[in-house]
Amino acid sequence: MKAIAIIGVVLGLLVASTTAQVQIPAERLEEAFVLTPEEQEKNIEICTQNLIQLGKSIEAYLEVNGDYPEWLSDLYHPRYLPDPDVLICPADRMGGRAGFARNIDPKMPVSYGYQFRSQYRERIQENRTLYGDGVPLVRCRHHASPDFHCLNLSYSYKISRSWSIWEAVPEQLYDSPEEAIAAMEIGLQQQPYNERLCYYVYPALARLYIETGRADRVDSVIDLFKSSINTDYPRYYLTLARLLEMTDRDTELLQVFKELAEQDPNDRTAHRKLAEIYQKLGDTELATKHRLKAEPVLALIGKPVPDFSATDLDGKPISLEQYRGKVVLLDFRATWSSLCLEDTPNVKKVYDAYKDKDFDIIGISLDNDEKMLRDHLKKHEIPWRQVYSGKRWDSPIARQYGIRNVPTGWLIDRDGTLISQQASGGMLEHLVSEAVAGKRNLVKLIQSILGNNRKSK
Ligand SMILES: [Zn+2]
Repeated sequence: MKAIAIIGVVLGLLVASTTAQVQIPAERLEEAFVLTPEEQEKNIEICTQNLIQLGKSIEAYLEVNGDYPEWLSDLYHPRYLPDPDVLICPADRMGGRAGFARNIDPKMPVSYGYQFRSQYRERIQENRTLYGDGVPLVRCRHHASPDFHCLNLSYSYKISRSWSIWEAVPEQLYDSPEEAIAAMEIGLQQQPYNERLCYYVYPALARLYIETGRADRVDSVIDLFKSSINTDYPRYYLTLARLLEMTDRDTELLQVFKELAEQDPNDRTAHRKLAEIYQKLGDTELATKHRLKAEPVLALIGKPVPDFSATDLDGKPISLEQYRGKVVLLDFRATWSSLCLEDTPNVKKVYDAYKDKDFDIIGISLDNDEKMLRDHLKKHEIPWRQVYSGKRWDSPIARQYGIRNVPTGWLIDRDGTLISQQASGGMLEHLVSEAVAGKRNLVKLIQSILGNNRKSK
């Protein structure tokens, strides 16, 4: 018996010692990986050394095979990469086992994203043509840092720190903006018609020209864009607008958004932009017209809010009519939204402060999990009535009022007219205090901010 137990222990030790990465239970991961800045820096340093080593291995592989490896694990060979630990980043919580299914290395755990897989080759080749060899070849995404998302090894075997989408900020891949400019100048000479990347590369080059004191070159970027990219390209006008905005070419910019609004009269972005440009040009009337098309709900301010009818969480009928005589907040929110969760104490505070002054709240939940909602209400001791349909954005009341963001608060006056459709966050307390005090000039005030000259009643 004793002997068997000892063998068991020995076997256990053997198993433990051959498993390089100790599996940590999921609930302990957060706690285990709260690192000090020094530890994080150390991890980045080790990861950088790993990337440099991978670069050398890839170079050796390339020399022998004449092509890049299909997977990073193909490098695991005495000739190229004798030590497989190089494939694991010390900051990788999953020890190289995570990743999207199609990107999981078939042979061994790998922490790094490898950009030269066969299905990406064409794409990468376009990137390299337009952005040069600073383009990432191997990337690490395991260093949670406010300054960058990815540690990259480039095609020229250099290390850079960048955002995930480096295409908009290519200077992150290079030692200086000038280097990035030079790479893009060559790239655009070769492939000015590239639709996949034109949305990024033209504005990036124009911006870098401005930032390096060569704003006079932006016009040539715009000309090249216009002569190379087809107007059928879906983001043509938006990209052109981004370029024109950089150089204050307002008349042309106006024309671009007019065309967009003509093509699609419901294009809210176009109307919002037209409102901004007309405001800048001093035409308040046209600015207001487009602002209202961008945000149709603004036209409701000072007008009666159409009623809804539903049943609340307790199964009782509920409608705005029942709240006549009170200032009421129609509060659209959901427990799956972190913005909403952060804002919950704020709403609760305002409710507690004004509930005895003819103020009430109707919660319109965009949740799709009733238990989560009920737990949330209980935890935060929320007493006001709730409407729940379980349909998220398709909730009938959210659809009826055209709600596109949460939290959204519609503040409704005692007589049922809309005071504000932005009554949440920092604005809420101010708006509610004015409304319960009966300051009817609030509507006028908001309308004047919007440049809306129509008289409120
Ligand atoms: Zn790393």
